Amino acid sequence: MTIRVLSVTSEAVPLVKTGGLADVAGALPAAVAPHGVAMTTLLPGYPAVLAAIAGSRGKPRVVHTWDALLGTPARALAGKLGDHPLLVLDAPALFARDGSPYGDLAGNDWADNWHRFAALGRAAADIAGGCVRSGGKPQRFDLVHAHDWQAAMACAYLHYAPFANTALPSVMTIHNMAFQGRAGGEVFARLDLPSQAWSLDGVEYHGGVGLLKAGIATASRVTTVSPTYAREIRSARFGMGLEGLIAARGNAVSGILNGIDTALWDPSRDPALAARFTRRNPEKRSLNKRALEAEFGLDSGDGPLFVVITRLTWQKGMDVLLEVLDHLVGIGGRLALLGSGDAQIERELLRAAARHPGKVAVRLGYDEGLSHRMQGGGDAILVPSRFEPCGLTQLYGLAYGCVPVVARTGGLADTVIDANPAALAAGVATGIQFDGVDYDSFAAALSRTVELFAQAPVWRAVQRNAMAGDFSWTASGKAYAELYRALVP
Ligand code: ADP
Repeated sequence: MTIRVLSVTSEAVPLVKTGGLADVAGALPAAVAPHGVAMTTLLPGYPAVLAAIAGSRGKPRVVHTWDALLGTPARALAGKLGDHPLLVLDAPALFARDGSPYGDLAGNDWADNWHRFAALGRAAADIAGGCVRSGGKPQRFDLVHAHDWQAAMACAYLHYAPFANTALPSVMTIHNMAFQGRAGGEVFARLDLPSQAWSLDGVEYHGGVGLLKAGIATASRVTTVSPTYAREIRSARFGMGLEGLIAARGNAVSGILNGIDTALWDPSRDPALAARFTRRNPEKRSLNKRALEAEFGLDSGDGPLFVVITRLTWQKGMDVLLEVLDHLVGIGGRLALLGSGDAQIERELLRAAARHPGKVAVRLGYDEGLSHRMQGGGDAILVPSRFEPCGLTQLYGLAYGCVPVVARTGGLADTVIDANPAALAAGVATGIQFDGVDYDSFAAALSRTVELFAQAPVWRAVQRNAMAGDFSWTASGKAYAELYRALVP
């Protein structure tokens, strides 16, 4: 039996992306399809998404109209996400705005984000209940899969207002506990939920409304994107206030690692690379390395070329990276960094690059092609995250032989095998791990990396082990399909 799943998300490649959520939501339909799951994705109608589905004829197909969706006129439009069905929530008052999906051009969050994304959840529940008709019949779904706080209210609406008295099961996936979607208690009256939803096991959170909290409390099952992060969020350090609720949900919470989209990330056929390669000829990477050094204006040298590709935030440990830069250069390393985010970190990085000409180079901004060239030409990618639900850049690094140097947390702990003596002897090491994101441990990890790099045959072996791993969606797609199947009667 085919299971029909509505995946609700605010980002999906190739239509809209601010982070890893987009990679995952974009890849999921194809990942679960071989396992008997037909997935339709629901996205908000941001200007870029509407433009992409307008196609050459310029007229998308309207499949449902709401006179007032939480008070706002809205339509559901049909389109395609790659080869898979897409529904777009066209609600101009909520989504037709310049800026990022979540805020204005100056970087301020939209004050009505609770309304924008509660409406997405309300629409998802209506659609899952059959409000969209196709071929004269209601289009039915068996389950709703909500991603992050932006989609979390879909679970709450299904829980409290089941369509036609059949409560559909739901899965809530947490891609990052740090983003929770909170609003004041006064908005509750505008959510169109029954009064019992204002409770500890509903949407109420410390006297206000918590969108992610509501999803975690009401979903049939909760997943996060690595087994280690699923354990970590039971503690105050990682749970960000929701650790009690996570612990209370007990076995309903589990971790499924993300995969990478091997159609886009494959060094043997990546059009962004000067030289393509496989694990049988990683020496070809040296061409990419020289091209990357030239592109960043870096000196060539005997030590490793480190790369960083990231949002520039505290989560990603960028303040500690700034502290260890002198050490990195002092032991013969060079650094090429691509990132955008926190204005102060951006300024300090530019200052550090000016202090180390030819050794440290920084590109501010978002550049997909450059991120591929960096994975294909760098020797090692640094991921000093304070917490990392799964992390994708270390997976791309593994696949491209750009050896990951990572903090031992979340998905980083689950995907990289530290090159300690035992792992080296057993021939299974794929990178370097360190405990605690502080100067001493990060600097020591950099020193270990430089020493390993100097032993060319050992380094080559680590690189080959890294590239031998399977980071595709095969295993994760199967795991999600099994989870869905366990929930659908
Ligand atoms: P997060 O979702 O927390 O930002 P992940 O590692 O899960 O972190 O995913 C980040 C994604 O965004 C990866 O695909 C990474 O390559 C990409 N990325 C991050 N910053 C940039 C940038 N400045 N330019 C290009 N790609 C970037």
